[in-house]
Amino acid sequence: MNASSIHFSFELFPPRTPVGWDKLPALASALAAVQPAFFSVTYGAGGSDQNGTYDTLIRVVEQTGIETAPHLTCIGSTRAKIGALLDRYKAAGVTRIVALRGDLPATAVSSEAPGELRYASELVAFIRQTHGDHFALEVAAYPEMHPQAANPDADFDAFRRKVDAGASGAVTQYFYAAEAYFDFMERCARAGITIPVVPGIMPITNHAQLMRFSAACGADIPRWIRLRLEQYQDDKQALQDFGLEVVTRLCRTLLDNGAPGLHFYTLNQAEPTLRLWRHLGLPMPIPGS
Ligand code: FAD
Repeated sequence: MNASSIHFSFELFPPRTPVGWDKLPALASALAAVQPAFFSVTYGAGGSDQNGTYDTLIRVVEQTGIETAPHLTCIGSTRAKIGALLDRYKAAGVTRIVALRGDLPATAVSSEAPGELRYASELVAFIRQTHGDHFALEVAAYPEMHPQAANPDADFDAFRRKVDAGASGAVTQYFYAAEAYFDFMERCARAGITIPVVPGIMPITNHAQLMRFSAACGADIPRWIRLRLEQYQDDKQALQDFGLEVVTRLCRTLLDNGAPGLHFYTLNQAEPTLRLWRHLGLPMPIPGS
């Protein structure tokens, strides 16, 4: 594995408390030390607003000088609002966007989002139409299928539409079975899709939180992992040690078998991601070099 040719990126969310904002510079600096290709900042998830994403992005860039991509969702929005936001990001020097539909309410009966753009593919097409190739566009991919998709083939068609609309790359929902990713990549190869599809990696540090996230996003926790996490739920150290072994093995399998990089869901904590980084034997650049 040649780490220098692999793309690593770190996802952050806008801090939700004054203490979280105070900690943001140290968080960004700690993660920037391993020189990721870019940071990304979520939007809307957990009730954050657009200004939260924008302000986080600006602070991370000021603190680290590393490219930072805002997530942008089209759910419930209009072309005019999205257009204005794109102009604001462009003026701020942004050249990469993670383009998403956004989450529907749990009670939704259709996968069509309210708003002028119903799917992420329409958002990608709109950005290409209004801003040409100014932005690199990352889209979401679901090796285990998006939970609201009619079936796996329909979901893959939805992914293909995003690629056809002009996506530059994709980041996957997290998963713990590497086979799901390899199967997805085989389907991409058969469909002639060549954009990089980077696995999204969720470190395992908290049993209840992982169960909650996974139930919401449809990520499968294999039974043997779930049982071990249940056993260790009151023993933080044992749970984190086990999680580190499982996720390190997953990352190594992915990188050894052709994954173009890894996108870490940091949950605004540097240490779980950096621990994984060290465990994987990835380079720790010397400061200032
Ligand atoms: P789409 O690609 O539009 O797909 C949504 C659903 O519609 C799927 O079931 C798909 O199969 C179906 N579909 C698509 N096109 C069609 C069509 N033409 N006809 C019928 N069905 C169709 N959410 C946030 O709110 N904020 C974030 O910052 C955020 N960041 C994320 C980052 C990553 C890497 C990932 C993987 C997800 C993120 N999410 C975020 C969650 C995401 O918004 C949800 O998973 C959302 O439900 C789907 O978004 P999408 O862009 O994949 O939608």
